[in-house]
Amino acid sequence: MTHPFLDLAPLGAARFASIEDRVARLLDTRQDVVIMQGEALLPLEGAIRGTTGPGTTALNVITGPYGQTFGDWLRDCGATVIDLAVPFHTAVTAAQVREAFARHPEIDFVSLVHAEAATGNTNPVAEIGEVVREQGALFYLDAVASVGAEPVLPDAWGVDLCVIGAQKAMGGPAGVSAVSVSERAWARMAANPRAPRRSYLSLLDWKERWVDAGRKALLHAPAQLEMLALEACLERIEAQGLDSVMARHRAAALAVREGAAAVGLEPYVRELRDAAPVATTLRVTDGRHAAELVARALAADPGVPLAAGGGALAAEMIRVNHYGADASVETARRSLAALDAAAR
Ligand SMILES: *Cc1c(COP(=O)(O)O)cnc(C)c1O
Repeated sequence: MTHPFLDLAPLGAARFASIEDRVARLLDTRQDVVIMQGEALLPLEGAIRGTTGPGTTALNVITGPYGQTFGDWLRDCGATVIDLAVPFHTAVTAAQVREAFARHPEIDFVSLVHAEAATGNTNPVAEIGEVVREQGALFYLDAVASVGAEPVLPDAWGVDLCVIGAQKAMGGPAGVSAVSVSERAWARMAANPRAPRRSYLSLLDWKERWVDAGRKALLHAPAQLEMLALEACLERIEAQGLDSVMARHRAAALAVREGAAAVGLEPYVRELRDAAPVATTLRVTDGRHAAELVARALAADPGVPLAAGGGALAAEMIRVNHYGADASVETARRSLAALDAAAR
């Protein structure tokens, strides 16, 4: 008897390329899309190491924990890093990015997280992209948490390196990820003597041996199960319609925001326009401890997608991870009901 996970025909180059094309359609991009054989941290790190070095001046926008990580990689690459940190209850503005360029015209790289599942905010990428393009800098975007929950449009927004993963709003696997790469970003990598080459982190290897070679032969055996899961998840999004998948996330987010007050909590992100559709964060205001409240809520209903904030936020932040299969008003209401039960 054949096993559904184990006794599979090999996943060939043509199938792999067709999955890349599906990702390109999802992002409405004409840039090269490379599917990387690892979790999103692989292209996130590979893209920074490929395009930056001691000559780089990077504006690193910090609106949550991932911005911190990117700053560490950038410094590790020898780049001069200008951190622009904004409080987690808000979003960065295009005006703040413009001011940073005015103070440091030498900035030639901007790293930004689109939506932060960990802090529940989302940033106005289209407006920021206009500023970055005016200044001619390379624009790097982590869209792992936004794709599927809100529009992600690298071409329209002038994003040079747009990284996505399927494990959040796409409702797909975590083990493979993708990056769209502009011509300018490829040129920056090709000119960078420190860009990884002959390395698992290397995007240039994929450019030279896969993209430029007509996508005929893979560099190594692909992560077959994850690739099939990614293909299935793209098919499901196409069948449901990306707009309806995004609408489900928005509706779930609104239901949590609107229902928070009734269970004694308030939205952590103050303005609706700054709140990410992928996940909603709530603030505990009355001296109760968020992590303890979440533990009691999960004891009351183990099926709800609740978590406490990470690190220092564990005392005051509750995350409702209403993404993927949990992106529904019903799950949003159930999550609030569990928090209500926990409070009693
Ligand atoms: C979830 C997420 C990632 C991927 O990290 P995992 O914790 O491994 O899922 C990357 N960037 C952002 C902004 C994310 O929210």
